[in-house]
Amino acid sequence: MVPRSNISVQKTLYEVLSVSEGATYNEIRAAYKSAALNTHPDKAQTTLESLPSTEQQEFSSVQKAWEILRHPTSRADYDKQLQSSRQNIEIIASEIKVGDMIIESTVDTLELLYPCRCGDYFSITSCELSEMGIFVSGDGEVELQASDSASASVVLGCGSCSLKTRLVINETS
Ligand SMILES: [Zn+2]
Repeated sequence: MVPRSNISVQKTLYEVLSVSEGATYNEIRAAYKSAALNTHPDKAQTTLESLPSTEQQEFSSVQKAWEILRHPTSRADYDKQLQSSRQNIEIIASEIKVGDMIIESTVDTLELLYPCRCGDYFSITSCELSEMGIFVSGDGEVELQASDSASASVVLGCGSCSLKTRLVINETS
C-alpha cells in the first residue's frame, strides 16, 4: 500500500516552528528566530560532527520550514498541499468495487460510474485504468497486469464536489 501523504504523521511546518497556521509573517519570523537559536549547532557549543543526528535534523527542519513559510507563494503552495492531504484522509468514506459500478460504453472507451451523495458521479474510464495496468471489459471482468498483487486501488474524485472514494480492484479469474 502506498502512503497517501506523510504530512499527517510528520509535524507540519507550522508545528516545527510552533506557530498557528494563521500566523502572520512577523510571528513566523519571530518563531523561526527563537527556534533557530535553540537548535543552531553553534549555540550547542559542540561541532556539527559531534551533534546527535536528531539535533541536526531539528535544525534543518526549522530551516526548511522557514524557507517555505517566509515566501507567500511557497507558503500558499504548502497550505494547499496540507489541505488536500487532509481531505484525502478525511473524505474517503467508503470503498467500492468494479462490480458496484455502472459501466457505460462510449465510442472509444468504457466509463465506470458510481453515484456520489451530491447527485453527480465518481468516474474513471477504462482508458485511465489501462494506463495503470488494469483492464476492464464491458461485462465487468477485470484483469490486472503490471502488478505483483491480485488487487489494486484507485482514489476517485467526484465530478462536482470534493468527496472521494476508493475503488478497490480485485482480479476476476
Ligand atoms: Zn459529489
